Amino acid sequence: MAVDPLIELRGVNKHYGKLHVLRDIDLTVGRGEVVVVIGPSGSGKSTLCRAINRLEPVESGTILLDGRPLPEEGRELAKLRAEVGMVFQSFNLFAHKTVLANVSLAPLKVRKRSKEEADRRSRELLERVGLLAHADKYPAQLSGGQQQRVAIARALAMEPKVMLFDEPTSALDPEMINEVLEVMQQLARDGMTMVVVTHEMGFARSAANRVVFMADGRIVEDRSPEQFFTAPESERAKDFLSKIL
Ligand code: ADP
Ligand code: MG
Repeated sequence: MAVDPLIELRGVNKHYGKLHVLRDIDLTVGRGEVVVVIGPSGSGKSTLCRAINRLEPVESGTILLDGRPLPEEGRELAKLRAEVGMVFQSFNLFAHKTVLANVSLAPLKVRKRSKEEADRRSRELLERVGLLAHADKYPAQLSGGQQQRVAIARALAMEPKVMLFDEPTSALDPEMINEVLEVMQQLARDGMTMVVVTHEMGFARSAANRVVFMADGRIVEDRSPEQFFTAPESERAKDFLSKIL
């Protein structure tokens, strides 16, 4: 793809104690691109996501978002975080708030939107994830798949430039996985820039522009899904694919 980079990592390294979790990571994610990150457990996928919105500081290398280095701290960092939407395995909705309130909270508090504006926009987003009818319910009244769709709407409410998904369907019962993947597919079709850690190979094949395969803190392969799934180059990837496909 013609590269108009939205995220750029150059020579990024990170340790946890003696464990070298990110090793010389070079990664560019273009605007509108969908990059699926796969790899064995412990290979550094979550740490990579957390580095991108600076939930984890890194030791060396540079990370640019839309051409600007990640700010160290303070207001600038808060602003950056608002530009990077994040959806985790555990949805962490506010249990004592309605679905609508969960989605409109950040726009109200961080973006300082009026209540009317935040509610209107939140209802649009709930419609987009197929949950407008549930706006006044509480999270516990929804299924896991529905809660995860609320979490996606909540992240979108900040109008992020990029969405990071870290195993968004791993905690879900099998029958709920597709409803979440469909929302993500639609988001991809709408042109959202996305980094998605997932073991859902169907999603990777149909939505990803690139598959990044990680092992032991390194990016071992970075190729089109077609190339990766039909002819993985590394033994690590071949071994990994033979176990999950
Ligand atoms: P993945 O998401 O690919 O499973 P992670 O990025 O979560 O991998 O973790 C990479 C490695 O770093 C693992 O060996 C993990 O145990 C270790 N690790 C992750 N977070 C921490 C932490 N906060 N402190 C110490 N070690 C950690
Ligand atoms: Mg992980």
